[in-house]
Amino acid sequence: MTAEHVAAIDRAHLWHPYSPSPASMAALPIARASGVHLHTMDGRQLIDGMSSWWAACHGHGHPLLVAAAHEQIDAMSHVMFGGLTHEPAAALAAKLVELTDDALTRVFLSDSGSISVEVAIKMALQYQRGAGHPERSRLLTWRSGYHGDTFAAMSVCDPDGGMHALWSGTLAEQVFAPPPPVRGSSAEIRDAYLADFEALVGPDVAAVIIEPVVQGAGGMRFHDAGLVAGVRRICDRHGVLMIADEIATGFGRTGELFVTSSVGVTPDILCVGKALTGGFMTLAATLTTAAVAGAIATPAGGGALMHGPTFMGNPLACAVALASLDLVGTGYWRESVPRIEGGLCDGLASLADLPHVADVRVLGAIGVVELREDCDMAAATEAALAAGVWLRPFGRLVYCMPPFISTTDQVARICRGLRAAVTACGKA
Ligand SMILES: *Cc1c(COP(=O)(O)O)cnc(C)c1O
Repeated sequence: MTAEHVAAIDRAHLWHPYSPSPASMAALPIARASGVHLHTMDGRQLIDGMSSWWAACHGHGHPLLVAAAHEQIDAMSHVMFGGLTHEPAAALAAKLVELTDDALTRVFLSDSGSISVEVAIKMALQYQRGAGHPERSRLLTWRSGYHGDTFAAMSVCDPDGGMHALWSGTLAEQVFAPPPPVRGSSAEIRDAYLADFEALVGPDVAAVIIEPVVQGAGGMRFHDAGLVAGVRRICDRHGVLMIADEIATGFGRTGELFVTSSVGVTPDILCVGKALTGGFMTLAATLTTAAVAGAIATPAGGGALMHGPTFMGNPLACAVALASLDLVGTGYWRESVPRIEGGLCDGLASLADLPHVADVRVLGAIGVVELREDCDMAAATEAALAAGVWLRPFGRLVYCMPPFISTTDQVARICRGLRAAVTACGKA
Protein backbone atom coordinates (compact mmCIF):
# COMPACT_ATOMS: atom_id res chain seq x y z
CA MET A 1 0.00 0.00 0.00
CA THR A 2 1.02 3.60 -0.48
CA ALA A 3 1.05 6.05 2.42
CA GLU A 4 -2.01 7.75 0.88
CA HIS A 5 -3.90 4.45 0.71
CA VAL A 6 -3.15 3.66 4.37
CA ALA A 7 -4.18 7.15 5.42
CA ALA A 8 -7.43 6.94 3.43
CA ILE A 9 -8.49 3.59 4.95
CA ASP A 10 -7.43 4.81 8.39
CA ARG A 11 -9.53 7.91 8.05
CA ALA A 12 -12.57 5.99 6.82
CA HIS A 13 -12.52 3.14 9.33
CA LEU A 14 -10.12 3.40 12.26
CA TRP A 15 -10.57 4.99 15.62
CA HIS A 16 -7.49 6.46 17.32
CA PRO A 17 -6.95 7.17 21.04
CA TYR A 18 -9.31 9.87 22.37
CA SER A 19 -10.45 10.84 18.88
CA PRO A 20 -13.68 11.20 16.96
CA SER A 21 -14.23 9.16 13.76
CA PRO A 22 -13.15 10.42 11.36
CA ALA A 23 -10.30 11.98 13.33
CA SER A 24 -9.80 15.73 13.34
CA MET A 25 -6.06 15.31 12.69
CA ALA A 26 -4.71 12.79 10.15
CA ALA A 27 -2.56 10.01 11.66
CA LEU A 28 0.99 9.66 10.34
CA PRO A 29 1.66 6.36 8.49
CA ILE A 30 4.76 4.60 9.86
CA ALA A 31 6.56 1.87 7.91
CA ARG A 32 9.21 0.70 10.39
CA ALA A 33 10.74 1.52 13.73
CA SER A 34 14.29 0.81 14.82
CA GLY A 35 16.34 2.14 17.71
CA VAL A 36 15.16 5.65 18.60
CA HIS A 37 13.73 6.14 15.10
CA LEU A 38 10.33 5.94 13.45
CA HIS A 39 10.45 5.67 9.65
CA THR A 40 7.41 7.18 7.97
CA MET A 41 5.90 5.63 4.84
CA ASP A 42 6.83 8.79 2.93
CA GLY A 43 10.50 8.26 3.75
CA ARG A 44 11.13 10.56 6.72
CA GLN A 45 13.13 9.50 9.78
CA LEU A 46 11.86 10.83 13.12
CA ILE A 47 13.11 10.42 16.67
CA ASP A 48 10.41 8.85 18.86
CA GLY A 49 10.51 11.44 21.64
CA MET A 50 7.64 9.66 23.43
CA SER A 51 9.22 6.15 23.55
CA SER A 52 5.79 5.31 22.08
CA TRP A 53 4.01 6.34 25.29
CA TRP A 54 6.70 5.27 27.82
CA ALA A 55 6.92 1.72 26.45
CA ALA A 56 9.89 1.47 24.05
CA CYS A 57 12.46 2.23 26.77
CA HIS A 58 15.29 0.32 25.01
CA GLY A 59 14.34 1.79 21.63
CA HIS A 60 12.42 -0.03 18.90
CA GLY A 61 13.28 -3.49 17.60
CA HIS A 62 16.08 -4.18 20.07
CA PRO A 63 17.96 -7.23 18.68
CA LEU A 64 17.71 -9.15 21.98
CA LEU A 65 13.94 -8.68 22.09
CA VAL A 66 13.57 -9.59 18.42
CA ALA A 67 15.62 -12.77 19.02
CA ALA A 68 13.53 -13.70 22.08
CA ALA A 69 10.32 -13.24 20.06
CA HIS A 70 11.61 -15.38 17.17
CA GLU A 71 12.71 -18.16 19.49
CA GLN A 72 9.41 -18.19 21.38
CA ILE A 73 7.13 -17.94 18.35
CA ASP A 74 8.72 -21.03 16.83
CA ALA A 75 7.94 -23.02 19.97
CA MET A 76 4.53 -21.67 21.02
CA SER A 77 2.87 -18.32 20.56
CA HIS A 78 -0.06 -18.85 22.91
CA VAL A 79 -1.88 -21.44 24.98
CA MET A 80 -4.67 -20.85 27.48
CA PHE A 81 -3.55 -20.21 31.07
CA GLY A 82 -6.50 -21.95 32.70
CA GLY A 83 -4.99 -25.22 33.92
CA LEU A 84 -1.82 -24.88 31.80
CA THR A 85 1.49 -23.18 32.51
CA HIS A 86 4.83 -22.68 30.76
CA GLU A 87 8.41 -21.56 31.18
CA PRO A 88 8.00 -17.98 29.84
CA ALA A 89 5.32 -17.14 32.45
CA ALA A 90 7.17 -18.96 35.26
CA ALA A 91 10.50 -17.31 34.45
CA LEU A 92 8.88 -13.89 34.15
CA ALA A 93 7.07 -14.25 37.48
CA ALA A 94 10.32 -15.30 39.17
CA LYS A 95 12.08 -12.31 37.61
CA LEU A 96 9.38 -9.83 38.69
CA VAL A 97 9.44 -11.22 42.23
CA GLU A 98 13.24 -10.88 42.26
CA LEU A 99 13.23 -7.28 40.98
CA THR A 100 10.47 -5.98 43.27
CA ASP A 101 10.13 -5.82 47.05
CA ASP A 102 10.59 -9.10 48.95
CA ALA A 103 7.01 -9.02 50.25
CA LEU A 104 5.55 -9.03 46.72
CA THR A 105 5.41 -12.71 45.85
CA ARG A 106 2.13 -13.24 43.94
CA VAL A 107 1.91 -12.24 40.29
CA PHE A 108 -1.19 -11.81 38.11
CA LEU A 109 -0.34 -11.41 34.41
CA SER A 110 -2.79 -9.50 32.22
CA ASP A 111 -2.97 -7.85 28.84
CA SER A 112 -2.75 -4.11 29.56
CA GLY A 113 -2.13 -1.52 32.22
CA SER A 114 -5.82 -0.72 32.63
CA ILE A 115 -6.58 -4.38 33.26
CA SER A 116 -3.77 -4.64 35.79
CA VAL A 117 -5.49 -1.77 37.64
CA GLU A 118 -8.88 -3.54 37.43
CA VAL A 119 -7.20 -6.61 38.92
CA ALA A 120 -5.55 -4.51 41.65
CA ILE A 121 -8.93 -3.07 42.62
CA LYS A 122 -10.53 -6.53 42.69
CA MET A 123 -7.66 -7.79 44.84
CA ALA A 124 -8.19 -4.93 47.31
CA LEU A 125 -11.97 -5.38 47.54
CA GLN A 126 -11.75 -9.18 47.84
CA TYR A 127 -9.00 -8.79 50.46
CA GLN A 128 -11.16 -6.52 52.62
CA ARG A 129 -14.07 -8.97 52.43
CA GLY A 130 -11.73 -11.79 53.39
CA ALA A 131 -10.35 -9.70 56.24
CA GLY A 132 -13.88 -9.25 57.61
CA HIS A 133 -14.48 -5.73 56.25
CA PRO A 134 -17.02 -5.98 53.42
CA GLU A 135 -18.06 -2.39 54.21
CA ARG A 136 -14.67 -1.22 52.89
CA SER A 137 -15.61 -0.93 49.24
CA ARG A 138 -14.35 2.42 47.96
CA LEU A 139 -10.99 3.69 46.73
CA LEU A 140 -9.23 6.83 47.92
CA THR A 141 -6.90 8.66 45.55
CA TRP A 142 -5.55 12.13 44.89
CA ARG A 143 -6.63 14.28 41.98
CA SER A 144 -4.78 14.70 38.66
CA GLY A 145 -4.05 10.96 38.53
CA TYR A 146 -4.41 8.60 35.59
CA HIS A 147 -4.93 4.84 35.93
CA GLY A 148 -6.41 3.70 32.63
CA ASP A 149 -9.54 3.72 30.51
CA THR A 150 -11.65 0.78 31.72
CA PHE A 151 -14.48 1.65 34.10
CA ALA A 152 -12.95 0.88 37.48
CA ALA A 153 -9.64 2.44 36.37
CA MET A 154 -11.51 5.51 35.07
CA SER A 155 -13.29 5.87 38.41
CA VAL A 156 -9.93 6.67 40.06
CA CYS A 157 -8.65 8.98 37.29
CA ASP A 158 -8.75 12.72 37.84
CA PRO A 159 -12.49 13.54 37.88
CA ASP A 160 -12.10 16.57 35.58
CA GLY A 161 -9.45 15.25 33.17
CA GLY A 162 -11.14 11.83 33.22
CA MET A 163 -14.45 13.48 32.22
CA HIS A 164 -16.37 12.05 35.18
CA ALA A 165 -19.22 14.42 34.32
CA LEU A 166 -19.80 12.38 31.14
CA TRP A 167 -20.07 9.22 33.25
CA SER A 168 -21.88 10.41 36.35
CA GLY A 169 -24.27 7.73 37.50
CA THR A 170 -22.18 5.08 35.70
CA LEU A 171 -18.79 5.29 37.41
CA ALA A 172 -18.19 4.05 40.94
CA GLU A 173 -17.97 7.10 43.21
CA GLN A 174 -14.56 7.12 44.80
CA VAL A 175 -13.00 9.46 47.37
CA PHE A 176 -10.75 12.22 46.01
CA ALA A 177 -8.09 14.22 47.82
CA PRO A 178 -6.66 17.41 46.27
CA PRO A 179 -3.66 16.95 43.93
CA PRO A 180 -0.45 16.24 45.85
CA PRO A 181 1.71 19.33 46.50
CA VAL A 182 4.39 19.66 43.82
CA ARG A 183 7.97 18.45 44.21
CA GLY A 184 10.01 20.75 46.41
CA SER A 185 7.09 21.84 48.61
CA SER A 186 7.98 22.54 52.24
CA ALA A 187 7.66 19.92 54.98
CA GLU A 188 4.84 22.00 56.52
CA ILE A 189 2.83 21.92 53.29
CA ARG A 190 3.39 18.19 52.91
CA ASP A 191 2.45 17.44 56.52
CA ALA A 192 -0.71 19.53 56.24
CA TYR A 193 -1.59 17.76 53.00
CA LEU A 194 -1.12 14.33 54.54
CA ALA A 195 -3.26 15.28 57.55
CA ASP A 196 -6.10 16.31 55.21
CA PHE A 197 -5.56 13.13 53.19
CA GLU A 198 -5.80 10.98 56.31
CA ALA A 199 -9.08 12.67 57.29
CA LEU A 200 -10.59 11.25 54.07
CA VAL A 201 -9.97 7.65 55.15
CA GLY A 202 -13.54 6.83 56.16
CA PRO A 203 -14.84 3.43 57.31
CA ASP A 204 -15.83 2.59 53.71
CA VAL A 205 -12.32 2.98 52.24
CA ALA A 206 -10.70 -0.31 51.13
CA ALA A 207 -7.50 0.97 49.51
CA VAL A 208 -5.54 4.00 48.44
CA ILE A 209 -4.35 4.02 44.82
CA ILE A 210 -1.65 6.42 43.65
CA GLU A 211 0.99 6.92 41.00
CA PRO A 212 4.04 7.44 43.20
CA VAL A 213 6.23 10.54 42.50
CA VAL A 214 5.15 11.00 38.85
CA GLN A 215 1.51 11.50 37.85
CA GLY A 216 1.45 10.69 34.14
CA ALA A 217 -1.39 11.36 31.71
CA GLY A 218 -3.44 13.14 34.41
CA GLY A 219 -1.16 16.19 34.26
CA MET A 220 2.50 15.11 34.25
CA ARG A 221 2.94 16.44 37.80
CA PHE A 222 5.81 15.44 40.12
CA HIS A 223 5.72 15.25 43.91
CA ASP A 224 8.12 14.37 46.72
CA ALA A 225 8.75 10.77 47.72
CA GLY A 226 8.01 11.82 51.31
CA LEU A 227 4.33 11.96 50.37
CA VAL A 228 4.46 8.36 49.17
CA ALA A 229 5.98 7.28 52.49
CA GLY A 230 3.29 9.34 54.25
CA VAL A 231 0.52 7.58 52.33
CA ARG A 232 2.04 4.22 53.31
CA ARG A 233 1.93 5.19 57.01
CA ILE A 234 -1.69 6.35 56.69
CA CYS A 235 -2.67 3.04 55.05
CA ASP A 236 -0.98 1.11 57.86
CA ARG A 237 -2.75 3.10 60.56
CA HIS A 238 -6.19 2.39 59.06
CA GLY A 239 -5.88 -1.19 57.78
CA VAL A 240 -6.26 0.10 54.24
CA LEU A 241 -4.26 -1.37 51.34
CA MET A 242 -1.84 0.72 49.30
CA ILE A 243 -1.90 0.22 45.53
CA ALA A 244 1.11 1.71 43.70
CA ASP A 245 0.52 2.22 39.99
CA GLU A 246 4.06 2.16 38.55
CA ILE A 247 2.88 1.42 35.01
CA ALA A 248 4.59 4.61 33.77
CA THR A 249 7.44 4.92 36.29
CA GLY A 250 8.52 1.28 36.52
CA PHE A 251 11.78 -0.12 35.08
CA GLY A 252 14.02 2.93 35.27
CA ARG A 253 12.12 5.89 33.79
CA THR A 254 12.80 8.14 36.81
CA GLY A 255 16.36 6.86 37.25
CA GLU A 256 15.21 4.27 39.82
CA LEU A 257 14.00 0.74 39.09
CA PHE A 258 10.76 1.47 40.97
CA VAL A 259 10.11 4.69 42.82
CA THR A 260 8.42 2.89 45.73
CA SER A 261 11.30 0.53 46.53
CA SER A 262 13.83 3.34 46.01
CA VAL A 263 12.27 5.20 48.93
CA GLY A 264 11.78 2.11 51.08
CA VAL A 265 8.02 1.87 50.56
CA THR A 266 6.45 -1.55 49.96
CA PRO A 267 2.98 -1.27 48.46
CA ASP A 268 0.48 -4.06 49.14
CA ILE A 269 -0.29 -4.15 45.42
CA LEU A 270 1.97 -3.02 42.57
CA CYS A 271 0.91 -2.52 38.93
CA VAL A 272 3.48 -2.61 36.13
CA GLY A 273 3.03 -2.45 32.35
CA LYS A 274 4.13 -0.11 29.55
CA ALA A 275 7.94 -0.75 29.51
CA LEU A 276 7.48 -4.34 30.77
CA THR A 277 8.04 -5.76 27.27
CA GLY A 278 10.29 -2.87 26.22
CA GLY A 279 7.41 -1.61 24.09
CA PHE A 280 7.35 -4.75 21.97
CA MET A 281 3.80 -5.89 22.72
CA THR A 282 1.10 -5.52 25.31
CA LEU A 283 1.55 -7.10 28.75
CA ALA A 284 1.04 -5.96 32.34
CA ALA A 285 1.30 -7.47 35.80
CA THR A 286 -0.25 -6.95 39.22
CA LEU A 287 1.90 -8.10 42.14
CA THR A 288 0.76 -8.56 45.70
CA THR A 289 1.67 -10.11 49.04
CA ALA A 290 0.99 -13.52 50.56
CA ALA A 291 -1.28 -11.77 53.10
CA VAL A 292 -3.52 -10.31 50.39
CA ALA A 293 -3.57 -13.60 48.48
CA GLY A 294 -4.39 -15.46 51.69
CA ALA A 295 -7.41 -13.28 52.52
CA ILE A 296 -8.74 -13.63 48.96
CA ALA A 297 -8.44 -17.42 49.25
CA THR A 298 -10.81 -17.55 52.25
CA PRO A 299 -14.52 -18.20 51.61
CA ALA A 300 -15.41 -14.62 52.64
CA GLY A 301 -12.75 -13.27 50.27
CA GLY A 302 -14.37 -15.07 47.36
CA GLY A 303 -12.15 -18.14 47.49
CA ALA A 304 -10.48 -17.28 44.20
CA LEU A 305 -9.28 -14.11 42.50
CA MET A 306 -12.13 -13.51 40.08
CA HIS A 307 -10.31 -12.56 36.91
CA GLY A 308 -8.93 -14.58 33.97
CA PRO A 309 -8.29 -13.00 30.58
CA THR A 310 -8.19 -15.20 27.46
CA PHE A 311 -4.63 -14.14 26.69
CA MET A 312 -3.44 -14.31 30.31
CA GLY A 313 0.27 -15.15 30.54
CA ASN A 314 0.72 -15.01 26.76
CA PRO A 315 4.00 -16.90 26.21
CA LEU A 316 5.22 -14.64 23.40
CA ALA A 317 4.74 -11.48 25.47
CA CYS A 318 6.28 -13.14 28.55
CA ALA A 319 9.36 -14.26 26.60
CA VAL A 320 9.92 -10.75 25.27
CA ALA A 321 9.32 -9.23 28.72
CA LEU A 322 11.92 -11.58 30.16
CA ALA A 323 14.46 -10.41 27.57
CA SER A 324 13.56 -6.81 28.29
CA LEU A 325 14.01 -7.35 32.04
CA ASP A 326 17.42 -8.91 31.30
CA LEU A 327 18.32 -5.61 29.64
CA VAL A 328 16.90 -3.71 32.60
CA GLY A 329 18.97 -6.00 34.82
CA THR A 330 22.22 -4.92 33.15
CA GLY A 331 21.57 -1.52 34.71
CA TYR A 332 22.75 0.35 31.59
CA TRP A 333 19.97 2.90 32.18
CA ARG A 334 21.47 3.90 35.53
CA GLU A 335 24.07 5.81 33.50
CA SER A 336 21.89 6.92 30.59
CA VAL A 337 18.82 8.20 32.47
CA PRO A 338 20.79 10.79 34.52
CA ARG A 339 22.61 11.78 31.31
CA ILE A 340 19.27 12.24 29.52
CA GLU A 341 17.97 14.17 32.54
CA GLY A 342 20.92 16.56 32.24
CA GLY A 343 20.32 16.97 28.52
CA LEU A 344 16.63 17.72 29.06
CA CYS A 345 17.43 20.27 31.77
CA ASP A 346 19.94 22.03 29.48
CA GLY A 347 17.72 21.87 26.42
CA LEU A 348 14.43 22.95 27.97
CA ALA A 349 15.43 25.46 30.67
CA SER A 350 15.27 28.52 28.37
CA LEU A 351 11.57 27.84 27.65
CA ALA A 352 10.69 28.91 31.20
CA ASP A 353 11.26 32.54 30.12
CA LEU A 354 8.51 32.46 27.47
CA PRO A 355 5.36 34.34 28.51
CA HIS A 356 3.02 31.51 27.46
CA VAL A 357 4.97 28.88 29.46
CA ALA A 358 3.78 28.22 33.02
CA ASP A 359 6.40 25.67 34.10
CA VAL A 360 9.29 23.54 32.89
CA ARG A 361 10.11 20.39 34.86
CA VAL A 362 12.42 17.41 34.37
CA LEU A 363 12.68 14.19 36.35
CA GLY A 364 14.78 11.26 35.10
CA ALA A 365 14.10 10.71 31.41
CA ILE A 366 10.88 12.79 31.52
CA GLY A 367 10.76 16.39 30.29
CA VAL A 368 7.58 18.47 30.65
CA VAL A 369 6.67 21.98 29.48
CA GLU A 370 3.35 23.18 30.88
CA LEU A 371 1.72 26.04 28.97
CA ARG A 372 -0.67 28.61 30.38
CA GLU A 373 -3.36 27.62 27.88
CA ASP A 374 -4.14 24.55 25.79
CA CYS A 375 -1.63 24.04 23.00
CA ASP A 376 -2.52 24.04 19.32
CA MET A 377 -1.90 20.31 18.92
CA ALA A 378 -1.69 20.37 15.10
CA ALA A 379 0.73 23.31 15.00
CA ALA A 380 2.87 21.89 17.82
CA THR A 381 3.06 18.44 16.21
CA GLU A 382 3.95 19.94 12.80
CA ALA A 383 6.70 22.09 14.28
CA ALA A 384 8.26 19.10 16.04
CA LEU A 385 8.01 17.00 12.85
CA ALA A 386 9.82 19.73 10.91
CA ALA A 387 12.64 19.33 13.47
CA GLY A 388 12.63 15.54 12.90
CA VAL A 389 10.99 14.66 16.22
CA TRP A 390 7.76 12.80 17.03
CA LEU A 391 5.92 14.32 20.00
CA ARG A 392 2.31 14.01 21.10
CA PRO A 393 1.33 17.12 23.10
CA PHE A 394 -2.06 17.22 24.84
CA GLY A 395 -3.96 19.92 26.68
CA ARG A 396 -1.49 22.36 28.21
CA LEU A 397 1.37 19.83 28.11
CA VAL A 398 4.19 19.46 25.61
CA TYR A 399 6.44 16.69 26.92
CA CYS A 400 8.87 13.91 26.07
CA MET A 401 10.13 10.60 27.43
CA PRO A 402 13.20 9.70 25.31
CA PRO A 403 14.24 6.06 24.93
CA PHE A 404 17.05 5.18 27.40
CA ILE A 405 19.39 4.45 24.45
CA SER A 406 19.16 8.06 23.18
CA THR A 407 22.56 9.64 22.61
CA THR A 408 23.36 13.11 23.91
CA ASP A 409 22.90 14.48 20.37
CA GLN A 410 19.54 12.76 20.02
CA VAL A 411 18.36 14.20 23.33
CA ALA A 412 19.46 17.63 22.10
CA ARG A 413 17.43 17.09 18.93
CA ILE A 414 14.36 16.05 20.94
CA CYS A 415 14.76 19.29 22.91
CA ARG A 416 14.93 21.26 19.64
CA GLY A 417 11.70 19.58 18.54
CA LEU A 418 10.07 20.37 21.86
CA ARG A 419 11.23 24.00 21.73
CA ALA A 420 9.81 24.29 18.20
CA ALA A 421 6.49 22.80 19.35
CA VAL A 422 6.28 25.16 22.33
CA THR A 423 7.22 28.16 20.16
CA ALA A 424 4.53 27.21 17.64
CA CYS A 425 1.96 27.21 20.44
CA GLY A 426 3.02 30.73 21.45
CA LYS A 427 2.22 32.02 17.96
CA ALA A 428 -1.27 30.52 17.84
C1 LIG B 1 -0.76 4.08 30.69
C2 LIG B 1 -1.12 3.96 32.11
C3 LIG B 1 -2.18 3.10 32.52
C4 LIG B 1 -3.01 2.31 31.54
O1 LIG B 1 -2.27 1.39 30.82
P1 LIG B 1 -2.83 0.85 29.41
O2 LIG B 1 -1.83 -0.18 29.00
O3 LIG B 1 -2.90 2.04 28.49
O4 LIG B 1 -4.18 0.27 29.66
C5 LIG B 1 -2.44 3.02 33.87
N1 LIG B 1 -1.73 3.73 34.78
C6 LIG B 1 -0.73 4.54 34.42
C7 LIG B 1 0.05 5.27 35.47
C8 LIG B 1 -0.40 4.70 33.07
O5 LIG B 1 0.59 5.54 32.73
